[in-house]
Amino acid sequence: MSRKLSIGIAGAGIGGLAAGAFLARAGHTVELFDQFDAPAPVGSGLVLQPVGRAVLAELGVLEKAEAQGKALTRIEGTSVQTTGVVLSADYGTDPAHQGLGIHRASLFSVLHDACVVQGATLTPGSTVLGRDGQRFVLEGGARTASFDILIDASGAGSRLSPMTARALPYGALWAVVDWVPGVIAPDRLTQRYSYADRMMGVLPIGTPSGATSPKAALFWSLPSDGHPAWVAAGLDAWKFAAQTHWPEAWDFAAQIATPGDFTMARYGHGTLVQPVRDGIVHIGDAAHRTSPQLGQGANMALLDASALAWALERHRDLDDALRTYALSRRWHVWGYQLLSAAFTPQYQSDSRALAVLRDRLLYPLSTIPPVPALLARLVRGTLLPPIAGRRRESPTRT
Ligand SMILES: Cc1cc2nc3c(=O)[nH]c(=O)nc-3n(C[C@H](O)[C@H](O)[C@H](O)COP(=O)(O)OP(=O)(O)OC[C@H]3O[C@@H](n4cnc5c(N)ncnc54)[C@H](O)[C@@H]3O)c2cc1C
Repeated sequence: MSRKLSIGIAGAGIGGLAAGAFLARAGHTVELFDQFDAPAPVGSGLVLQPVGRAVLAELGVLEKAEAQGKALTRIEGTSVQTTGVVLSADYGTDPAHQGLGIHRASLFSVLHDACVVQGATLTPGSTVLGRDGQRFVLEGGARTASFDILIDASGAGSRLSPMTARALPYGALWAVVDWVPGVIAPDRLTQRYSYADRMMGVLPIGTPSGATSPKAALFWSLPSDGHPAWVAAGLDAWKFAAQTHWPEAWDFAAQIATPGDFTMARYGHGTLVQPVRDGIVHIGDAAHRTSPQLGQGANMALLDASALAWALERHRDLDDALRTYALSRRWHVWGYQLLSAAFTPQYQSDSRALAVLRDRLLYPLSTIPPVPALLARLVRGTLLPPIAGRRRESPTRT
């Protein structure tokens, strides 16, 4: 598209910053609005899949991200009941196909820098409550300028998205702790389950900028409404449970000094049928949200941003571009949302039957070719074409 557009983006998180960087680079005038008072990276660790890494490569910031993260060669889960492995997804030895454990703050900072370099402007302290035509309506009643396109990248709590998401029964406590060498393998996301109602995980996330030593994200599954009871039971009760559940990972759990070291994350699941309507495009969690069990949410937000920039570049007509965008992401988004809905209860639910099925039947089946290769493509994010219609040189070919 030769016409240069004015684009307003609500939310400067993973999807908003990536969209801002792509679209400013393409010559559009981009303004982002976020509720935070200053660009303050928050959050815990996440897995950047090969599809997400490819988007960072497209933006020219992959090396910066990799320097602050940790390459992952596999995802592995063991069960207390079978005392063995019940989940194994192998990324393989090719670095281009591997995952990257990274602190959300590190990802935020490389994307924020890319946005600034490309000339997008960010207005903090701007909580977007709605829209008035092609303007955002901010808390306090002020209206922004009018934009050719509004992008809603304001995440799971979006006030602009018409999505109705269902609350998931389980969330998790998350903390960042020091990586302890020699305790568990440093090249993988490792999880330990007891049925499906108890899960502890350790994700290596490299050395974020400002830190002097490698870190890990530690997580502990908890019913969504279980946080008050967990706090009331006291930290010693949790430490005993953690040590009993996964003695080998005790050195990570032992670093939790107060309940406040953990942040409780609750998850929802929902997908917008129409991510594009009347001049507004919903991307990332504002368009599709789910549990992080498959580790795809940030990658999805990055893919949305990349696909939107590609569609706008490809079409002179704005409606055509937005239609192409929606179609290009439809099957990948719906496919992964469906898979996430199917997989999550095997790892986070009260169902013992599902957990037994997972350990005794599904895992043994998953070791029979070609299932391991399919599982690898599933976690890489490439089981379905990430951006349908994009040509072979697409950076999402992983
Ligand atoms: C604990 C946890 C672990 C996860 N692990 C993984 C993982 O391993 N791999 C993975 O790919 N994904 C993971 N995810 C999911 C991933 O973090 C999200 O899918 C991703 O951040 C979505 O990006 P986004 O840009 O849509 O939203 P966000 O990154 O949440 O950004 C939204 C932005 O909008 C701003 N905002 C919100 N409301 C308003 C408003 N009203 N006005 C203005 N600004 C607003 C916020 O301040 C924020 O900056 C995890 C999520 C959680 C909670």
